[in-house]
Amino acid sequence: MTRSDPTPYPQPALLIDGEWITDTGAGEPVLNPATEAVLGHLPHADTALLDRAAQAAARAFTRWSVTPALERKRILNRAADILRARSEVIAQWMALEQGKPVAEARGELAGAADIFEWYGDEAPRLYGRIVPARGPGLRHEVQRLPVGAVAGFAPWNFPALTPARKIAGALAAGCTIVMKPSEETPATAIAIAHALEEAGLPPGCLNLVFGVPAQISEYLIPHPLIRKISFTGSTQVGRHLGALAAGSVKRATMELGGHAPVVVSADAPLDQVIPLLVGAKFRNAGQVCISPSRFFVERGIYDRFTERFAEAAAALVVGAGTSAGVQMGPLANDRRLAAMARFMEDAGARGLRRVTGGARIGNQGYFWQPTVIADATDDCLLMTEEPFGPIAPITPFDDLDEALKRANALPYGLAAYGFSGSQATANRLAAGLRAGMVGVNSMAISIAELPFGGVGDSGYGSEGGTEGLEGYLETRLVSQTV
Ligand code: NAD
Repeated sequence: MTRSDPTPYPQPALLIDGEWITDTGAGEPVLNPATEAVLGHLPHADTALLDRAAQAAARAFTRWSVTPALERKRILNRAADILRARSEVIAQWMALEQGKPVAEARGELAGAADIFEWYGDEAPRLYGRIVPARGPGLRHEVQRLPVGAVAGFAPWNFPALTPARKIAGALAAGCTIVMKPSEETPATAIAIAHALEEAGLPPGCLNLVFGVPAQISEYLIPHPLIRKISFTGSTQVGRHLGALAAGSVKRATMELGGHAPVVVSADAPLDQVIPLLVGAKFRNAGQVCISPSRFFVERGIYDRFTERFAEAAAALVVGAGTSAGVQMGPLANDRRLAAMARFMEDAGARGLRRVTGGARIGNQGYFWQPTVIADATDDCLLMTEEPFGPIAPITPFDDLDEALKRANALPYGLAAYGFSGSQATANRLAAGLRAGMVGVNSMAISIAELPFGGVGDSGYGSEGGTEGLEGYLETRLVSQTV
């Protein structure tokens, strides 16, 4: 970064009880994945600071939970407006720290602002109900109350959307939150916290902590003042955190990995489907939990689909997310580069057909070529393990029932997609794909007002839609003689 840069990367900091803390004596550098240059130094919270954050959230809860819903709505709506107004600057920071193109970052921020607005609007609609009594003189009232202080854990691939879902859901419901965004993408979450502060959110309602992820989760999840956990990340880590939550009888929402199948039937309109699928697959360099990642294509169009899909993938402009015209940025960290090499090694050992790409680009920054592998076997690594990167495996099918069986064969169940020009086939796809979110002739599944979540190894609970608020509410029955 130069002095003349109009949007210098901000100083990373913790936020505890309204205090911004930039130095704790421990920390780590934040890297730009396009250059591997250090963007800033992130302070780490020790257990004393984590305890302060939990205490602050619990203290703030006593006031925030009884703050009128209309006031909670106003604050969340104002934060949405502030995020929209600052979108250009925050998008630059997100592109610097995460790698995605600025245009994608803008889109993500627009989605995050929508989430604050939508959840804000829902706050005054959290109704209870009266259940008719069996006789006179008795009233049964079912109340929906905020569960308490929440601990939220978000990964690095959507630095705005994922923290927004957790923070907005918790605050709208009347909960407070200790949020651990990813250590790799802190500036975006910090910008969200500033927006909420300026919108009037009282101190302690949102606390941001960073540190060693395992140490933070092992301390905060069993903490007696934390009443609910929300985690987004890999199935492997989710299993561990879910067990920690269960051990201390805490409610948990787990949004874990996926490996979304896409079934393309021979009558699908390829002119529309290919750009849509290439855009979705290579968005954020494939580091998207709902990314289409296993392509089942009916044999009659298989060669044509593969060729055109690979042509469009190879034409993508790859570069730093902050550079004009770039369509795909680098991978977010060197772990993903190593993972891509492993997928290619397995594909090579099995003799799968490499149609385009397959290698790292250059030796500085974590760039990987948009890659297409044809004739993928159902048991290869690419078809069984979430690629979380820009490699698309494609395989032919002969019969729709066979395709559905193969599409549903993994233990994951986050997203699934199907494309067909026939209503009857579209209906079979809609009924037959097993996942928490199914797109048929549509990729529009991640929108503020829609439930977002998986089944099977992809986790439990939803974020988004009215279902998202449910996760932050508990039920209290008052049965009263009147
Ligand atoms: P990882 O599994 O170590 O980490 C995933 C996320 O969980 C990171 O943000 C990390 O900080 C956090 N984390 C890890 N251990 C934790 C712990 N004990 N307590 C709390 N948080 C913890 O791996 P990674 O290299 O960061 O990502 C690789 C894999 O993670 C990908 O292949 C993908 O499957 C999955 N992932 C999923 C999502 C998603 O949106 N569901 C997002 C990012 C990564």
